[in-house]
Amino acid sequence: SARPHAAASVASLDLADADPACAAPLPVLGRDVTVPLVTGGEVTYAALDYAASAPALQRVWDDVAAYAPYYGSVHRGAGYLSQLSTDLFENSRQTVAEFLDCRDGDQIVFTRSTTDSLNLLAACLPADCQVFVFETEHHASLLPWRDAQVTYLNAPRTPEEAVTTLERALADRDPYGPALVCVTGASNVTGELWPVRELTAAAHAHGARIVLDAAQLAPHHAVSVRDLDVDWVAFSGHKLYAPFGSGVLAGRADWLQSAEPYLAGGGASRQVARRADGGVEVEWHTTAARHEAGSPNVIGVYAIASACKALREEGFDTLVAREQRLVTAVRAGLAEVPEVKVLSLFGDDAPRVGVISFVVQGWNSSHFAAALSAEYGIGVRDGLFCAHPLVRTLLGSTPQEPGECGAPDETPGSLNAIRVSFGAGTPD
Ligand code: PLP
Repeated sequence: SARPHAAASVASLDLADADPACAAPLPVLGRDVTVPLVTGGEVTYAALDYAASAPALQRVWDDVAAYAPYYGSVHRGAGYLSQLSTDLFENSRQTVAEFLDCRDGDQIVFTRSTTDSLNLLAACLPADCQVFVFETEHHASLLPWRDAQVTYLNAPRTPEEAVTTLERALADRDPYGPALVCVTGASNVTGELWPVRELTAAAHAHGARIVLDAAQLAPHHAVSVRDLDVDWVAFSGHKLYAPFGSGVLAGRADWLQSAEPYLAGGGASRQVARRADGGVEVEWHTTAARHEAGSPNVIGVYAIASACKALREEGFDTLVAREQRLVTAVRAGLAEVPEVKVLSLFGDDAPRVGVISFVVQGWNSSHFAAALSAEYGIGVRDGLFCAHPLVRTLLGSTPQEPGECGAPDETPGSLNAIRVSFGAGTPD
């Protein structure tokens, strides 16, 4: 049957004219995986879904494989392998601190993911803390604060409007109470960079603290906690080429150490004793261990440290240059297809990472994404990308008739979009 024009155009975007100077600097796994096509035969898989989970860096894989025979318990054994594993786990904090350019006294807490990191911080908020968050955030940044007094800020249409919106909201708050602003560094829907430095200045000027959701930023740009002056930063290993189930919350120690442990259990407690009244007395750690109860995921943490080291040594210059070339090529290709509408909050000229979402008029996005996979071996994501309010805002601003792709006609799969995303190792 005839291939739809839009699908064919997107599938044939030519990413192969790479400038050799921009060649992929950090090899990743999975570049030569072949997948079956519904039309018969096989094709080399094109992974364009880095924003969901990026492939492992070859170096991360090699480091983990080299460590695997020495795997042992962390903080729980006198044997050589246990001691080595403990050293490796603890030394990983320093590697992550260097990657994030943390301040003296900042704590690096290992978690499962960005979602886990932000829920951990939410559990550490001081009493009566007010939280300010844009409705455009990923659900991991939007939802953990619901036990606090949350102010949801309307979607801004420019970076400047983001700053003035926040300033206005903060000006109205109780200036003596604690407050936290949560903001993304790079959108997982539009790829657009948020004005983190300016938002941080605004937060601090009003006595509020700020946490940066760097899930999509850290894989694409150097993040300096010191320079940006953010109070905390959260990111996930699996989006940073280290897919072994760990994440990071890094930043100020005070709120973290004043709060009850995130999980109660071994490792978080320094001493536990029965009380005379029959109860149990616990002295909790005042280090990162306070929030890391249970046997930690040393492989996941070591993988993150390995990725941080690799990215720090490589630097982001070549990665960014290459990625921007791909962003330009993909956006230019999409612009040639009249049925395609690229989603953007801040406009075409906004700086962005390699994340691009779009809808195709006349197509259900889920069917379109399935066709890309089945007919071309291209892996993308479809849906609302765990950022429902943002995608609704973006699609709502797209003039469409009910029943068209992306239109809010309540048909399952109709109110969604298609996302392509890339990074180190994307086909060149
Ligand atoms: N924040 C952003 C901007 C994201 O894109 C994601 C994941 O897509 C998250 C947070 C949550 O990350 P994780 O699923 O690793 O917890």
